[in-house]
Amino acid sequence: MSQSIAVIKGDGIGPEIMDATLRVLDALECDLNYEFIDAGLAALEKHGTLIPQESLDAIEKYSIALKGPLTTPIGKGFSSINVQLRRHFDLYANVRPAISFPGTRSRYEDIDMITVRENTEGAYLSDGQEMIDDGNTGISVIKVTRHGSERIVRYAFELAKKNGRKKVTAVHKANIIKTSSGLFLDVAREVAKEYPEIEFQEMIVDNACMQLVMNPHQFDVVVTTNLFGDILSDLCAGLVGGLGLAPGANIGEKAAIFEAVHGSAPDIAGQKIANPCALLLAAAQMLDHLGMNEKGDAIRHGIRAVLETRRDMVTPDMGGTGTTDTFAQALVEHIKQ
Ligand code: ATP
Ligand code: MG
Repeated sequence: MSQSIAVIKGDGIGPEIMDATLRVLDALECDLNYEFIDAGLAALEKHGTLIPQESLDAIEKYSIALKGPLTTPIGKGFSSINVQLRRHFDLYANVRPAISFPGTRSRYEDIDMITVRENTEGAYLSDGQEMIDDGNTGISVIKVTRHGSERIVRYAFELAKKNGRKKVTAVHKANIIKTSSGLFLDVAREVAKEYPEIEFQEMIVDNACMQLVMNPHQFDVVVTTNLFGDILSDLCAGLVGGLGLAPGANIGEKAAIFEAVHGSAPDIAGQKIANPCALLLAAAQMLDHLGMNEKGDAIRHGIRAVLETRRDMVTPDMGGTGTTDTFAQALVEHIKQ
């Protein structure tokens, strides 16, 4: 039976890169049924809200969504759509692969790692922020729970296991923040014992930053709390040449949403020069999640091959002379070979 997924084309360059991505998924014969749903500016025009209830219902029904970048209008009292989705579906794991590709400006080659960031607690509590002392003192609460730590660390180990990865590194600051970060580390050690086949490493966050910059190849899967994960995942994107090729997934018990990390890039929308790679890699992550790892690999290998051999069909941001469509075309040709 074919699997249905909710598809949000998104704003700005979203529709262009989504069309390219769906073309590639079709060529791979993934047997996916696309249910197109509205969100972002398109939804605001049609339904008067950025994320209509029927779109939330569709994501809940199909439990998988592939999402183009969405614009949250600034200054009109709208709260970020991504935050709304994360809260609504309790998407506790933010999963960001960082993979080196040829022809990107970066310091390193052959990086292949994944950061797993806890996405619902830590230093990101909306009710943990307070100004006191006539606005002269700011208080931010960090809250870490056993439940939250356990599910994120277990997610990281299960991900490692499913993808044949060898090592999980838990990043913390338990030496200084003994309560919250200490609990996270304790739980990580406990969960690690359930996975004797996977190497477990613990690293203090400041050292992790230095190690990532000096010797990134030692890392495989990195798991950490919300704020450290925010910072480290962007650091890792920087190691492989920036956000242009960075996919991400937000995963919960009931739903998983796959997306490009970059925004809607309205400055180049409609010009057919948007690079579809990040969304394609998000689609590959989605295929892995659905148990179609070989097809996910086909996208990753295909992108590598196209970047190496078909500069004429690659988008200008990657130094090519092609368009969004020729990029997709080249990938489809590679897949059909
Ligand atoms: P938003 O407001 O939705 O975040 P943005 O313009 O800030 O949109 P970013 O992702 O932050 O989008 O991108 C910054 C710049 O990087 C864009 O203006 C664009 O020129 C470039 N860019 C982003 N994504 C792509 C892409 N997929 N292909 C080519 N260029 C891109
Ligand atoms: Mg932006």
